[in-house]
Amino acid sequence: MALGIASTRPDRALTVRELLAAGKRSFSFEFMPPRTEVGEQRLWDAIRRLEPLDPNFVCMTYGAGGSSRERTVNMVGRIATETTLIPVAHLTAVDHSIAELRNIIGQYADQGVRNVLAVRGDPPGDPMGEWVRHPDGVTYAYELVELIKGIGDFCVGVAASPNMHPRSTDWDDDIRHFVGKIRAGADYAITQMFFEVDDYLRLRDRVTAAGCETPIIPEIMPVTNAKQLERFPQLSGSAFPADLEARLRAAIDDPAALRAIGMEHATAMAERLLAEGAPGLHFITLNHSTATLEIYQNLGLHQRHA
Ligand code: FAD
Repeated sequence: MALGIASTRPDRALTVRELLAAGKRSFSFEFMPPRTEVGEQRLWDAIRRLEPLDPNFVCMTYGAGGSSRERTVNMVGRIATETTLIPVAHLTAVDHSIAELRNIIGQYADQGVRNVLAVRGDPPGDPMGEWVRHPDGVTYAYELVELIKGIGDFCVGVAASPNMHPRSTDWDDDIRHFVGKIRAGADYAITQMFFEVDDYLRLRDRVTAAGCETPIIPEIMPVTNAKQLERFPQLSGSAFPADLEARLRAAIDDPAALRAIGMEHATAMAERLLAEGAPGLHFITLNHSTATLEIYQNLGLHQRHA
C-alpha cells in the first residue's frame, strides 16, 4: 500500500521503502527545527528553493529539548500539509518514556506522516557522556524501531556509521548491532557524514558480509567554512583525508577558496558514490539551499525529471 501523499508524479506516492525496493535512487535533504523567527523564515526560504529539485523525501532532525522537539513535530506537520514534499520525521529515545514516544508517533500518524528515522540520540551536552535511559523508556535504536513498527505501517530508517559508532567496542560489535536494527524491522539506513568514499564502501561490504542487503544512503556534507574544519570531524567521528585537510587548512584565510575546495570534494564524492552503486544521496542543508543546489547542478541532478 502506498502511504505517501498523492501527486502528479507517480514516485511521489511512495514511501522510502517502496522507492528503494523499486530499484530507484533516492535523493533527499535534511533540515533542522529553527530556533527563532528569522531561522524559521530562512528554513522556509531554503525549502521553497529546494522543492523544485523534487527530492524523494526531506528529513527534520529531532533535538534534545522540549521546545525544539515541539518545533520538529510542528515543522514536519507543516511540510506534510503545506508543501509537495514527503517529510521523514527523526525521533530519538533521549529522555522519553515509551508513552511519550507513542504519543509523538501518534501525532505524526494524525498528520499523515508515515516515514520516521529512528535514532537513539546522544546525552544532551556531551555526546560521549553517560547514556541514562529514561526509567520508562528504551536504550537502543532497535527498540525504537520495534516500537514504531508495532504501532502501525510506518517506513522506518536508521543511522549507519561509516567509521564505526564511537561507542562500539569493535567492528564486529558495530555491525552486529547495526544488523540488529534492520532485523528489528528498519527499512533502510542513512549514514553519518564522512569524507572518504572508501569508508562507505567498506561499511557496505561489512554489512553485506553479515548477510544484510539493506539500502544504506550516504550523507553528503560539504565543508563551506573554516569553523567546520574542527566541528565536522568531532560531530561525525570521521576524520578528513590528510590531503583534503591540508588543502583546506592552506586556504583557511581565503573563505571563497576554502569553500570551493569543500564543494569540489563533496561533488567528487557524490559522483563516485553514485558510480559505485549507492542507492541515493542524502544532503545535509543546515537550513540553507545554496550548497545543495550547487552540487545538484554539478551532478546534473537538477535535470533528473526533465
Ligand atoms: P544505536 O543503533 O542504538 O547504537 C548506539 C551504540 O550502541 C552503538 O555503539 C551500537 O553498537 C550499540 N548498541 C546497539 N544495540 C546494542 C545492543 N543491543 N547491545 C549493546 N550495544 C548496542 N541525533 C539526534 O539527537 N537527533 C537526530 O535527529 C539525529 N539524526 C541523525 C540522523 C542520521 C542519518 C545519523 C547518522 C545520526 C543522527 N543522529 C541524531 C545522531 C545519533 O543519535 C547518534 O549517532 C547516536 O550516538 C547513535 O544513534 P544510533 O541510532 O546509531 O544508536
